[in-house]
Formats: sequence, C-alpha cells, structure tokens
Amino acid sequence: MPPQLTRLDDATVAEIAAGEVISRPARVVSELIDNALDAGANRIDVAVDGDGTEQIRLKDDGHGLSRSDAGLAVQRHTTSKLPADAGASLTAVSTLGFRGEALAAICDCATVEISTNDGDAVGTKLRVENGEPTVADAARGQGTTVTVTDLFADRPARRESLSGPAAEFSRISDRVAAYALAQPDVGFSLRHDGAKTFSTPGGGLRDALLGVYDADVARNATVVEHATDIDIKDGTGSFDLRGILTYPSVTRSTRDHVRVSVAGRPVSDSGLRQAVIDGYGSLLPGDQFPIAAVDIEPPTGAVDPNVHPAKQRVGLRYRDDIEAAVETAVSGALSTADARRVEAAAT
Ligand code: ADP
Ligand code: MG
Repeated sequence: MPPQLTRLDDATVAEIAAGEVISRPARVVSELIDNALDAGANRIDVAVDGDGTEQIRLKDDGHGLSRSDAGLAVQRHTTSKLPADAGASLTAVSTLGFRGEALAAICDCATVEISTNDGDAVGTKLRVENGEPTVADAARGQGTTVTVTDLFADRPARRESLSGPAAEFSRISDRVAAYALAQPDVGFSLRHDGAKTFSTPGGGLRDALLGVYDADVARNATVVEHATDIDIKDGTGSFDLRGILTYPSVTRSTRDHVRVSVAGRPVSDSGLRQAVIDGYGSLLPGDQFPIAAVDIEPPTGAVDPNVHPAKQRVGLRYRDDIEAAVETAVSGALSTADARRVEAAAT
C-alpha cells in the first residue's frame, strides 16, 4: 500500500531548507528518479527528446498513487515521506525525497502529465498545464509515468542559459548512469530521440557496469565490499562500502567516471571522489582515472540529509575518517592477486 500524503506544517517547512528551484532538465530527471526509487520501483525507463525541454518521460513500476493523492502530490509541501510535524527531527530520513516540493516546482515551469495506478481497476491521468489540474481515467497497470513537456516555455532567460541539446543530454545521461550504478538492483533504461542510449537489467553491479559501459570495462573490473568500524564521537560506528572498480589497465582521461553514492544517492562530492582515486595510489598511468562506482553507508547520524539537494558536497560528520576508510577499502581491493595479474598482463 502506498503511504499516506500529508501537508507539512510551517515549522517543518522552515526546517527543511526548502525552496526548490529547477535549474535545468537534468534536475527534473534526478527528481523523478528519486520519486520512482522512493516508490519502490524495480524498473525505471527514461526517455528524453532534444535537450530535455521538449519532453522528459519517466515510467516506473512503483506503488503508484491513488486519485486523491495524485492531486495532492503536485501541491507544494505535500509529501508521504515525513509526518506533517516532523520539525527538527529530520535525521532519520531514509527516502531520497522528503521536502514535498519537486513535483510542485516542476509544475511551475512545465506542463506535467502524471499517469498512475496504485492497484485499482482504473488508473488516474492528472494533467497540470499553466497551473491548472485536470483529471481523467487512465488505462494502465500499477506504477507511475510522469511526462514533462515544454519545460521553461515561459522562461526565456532560463532556456537561454542551457548549453544545447548535446551538452544537456550528456548531463542527463550522466545522471541516469550514476543512479543505475548506485542502485544496481533496479533496472534502468535511457532513450534519446527514440534511440536507446543504454540499459541495465537490475542484476547487480557488474551487469550495471556492462550496461552503462561495455564488455571490456565490465570484464576488467573488480567488486569491492568492505565493512569496518570507525571512531565517532560516542564510540565506534559501522561503515559499509560496496562498489566496482576497473583495474588500472582500463582508464579514462577525466575523473567523471569515478562515481560515489551515499546510501544509494549519487552525490557529486570531490573529496569522496578523490578518496577513491587516492586508493589507486601509483597504479594509475599519469593523467588517467579509473571507472568506478562506490556506494558508502556511513555510520548512523554521520550524514546530514538536510543539505539542499542542489548543493554538491554532502554534509558528512567524521569526513576525514570516512575518506580514509574509502581510500583503504579501494587500495585493499586492488592489491589482490587478481588485480596484480591483470596489471601484469597489461604491461
Ligand atoms: P517528495 O519526494 O519530497 O515527497 P515530491 O514533490 O517529489 O516530494 O513528491 C510528492 C509526493 O508525491 C511524494 O511524497 C509521493 O508520495 C508522491 N509521488 C511522487 N512521485 C511518485 C511516484 N513516481 N510514484 C509514487 N508516488 C509518487
Ligand atoms: Mg521527490
């Protein structure tokens, strides 16, 4: 059963670093993927036309929404992920979203159609155009499809600040790849102007790497799994890391392919990324970087979930210890006999 939606009270809204701004199409894609994952989806299919302002469509097989909840979901500060009076007790958030703002913010700057079914005989199609909602029946099974068209149609300045179809789509593609690798048990697919960009089967890390890259990359990669205790304020906390790393024989000329996620949420955090690279030590050829996807699960209470999602760096307590643990785990995984064998074969 889908959880109940409520409207957050003013005190809670003041607490959650609210004020969602949709800056570019890739941001829409991230928010819609967060929602699909929070709905428990096993498959997420993304289709993009042009630079994404023309159309973004995201289909999931999650728990779906009832008709009345669909109407609530597009309003501001309505969420099923926090109690209405959560106030300052935000540390226990386990979902990717919780502000109840994303859909409202997207509806502010685009035409949105949500076709959804929470297991009823008849589904719901909710269309919001110029802020006006209309509701109709939809023939579809359980899950949700969100179609966003004419993004920024009435915001010429924002449209002009975009970097063109190739660059905007590459940002989107990078986001979807990051989620596919951070959530390897969920299947993802991405299409651009009708053509398949990549897909992953939801069958674990190596298959995800194979889907996003190719057989050569997937073959020359090792899985790292590492659990350790690190010292925190009131004693020790458990730190878990899981990921996949290419051997130093398979590299790229930018660090963009070194991806880190925190509890399944892709983050763009230069410190954590550098910790992965540092784990390779002197194994990497000059000016070359590995392909890596590392998910970390820091000790309870070490992550501040209330850093605004548009902010790049994660709010991490014990950051130095966590970065050191990441470096140790990566260098440990690469020092196995298997890695040395591949390295020797490559020279
Ligand atoms: P938040 O994710 O912060 O709660 P959103 O505006 O992104 O806020 O979504 C509002 C609510 O709409 C969510 O709390 C959820 O209950 C519902 N919702 C949004 N997208 C989906 C989806 N794909 N499947 C099921 N429910 C959804
Ligand atoms: Mg959301």
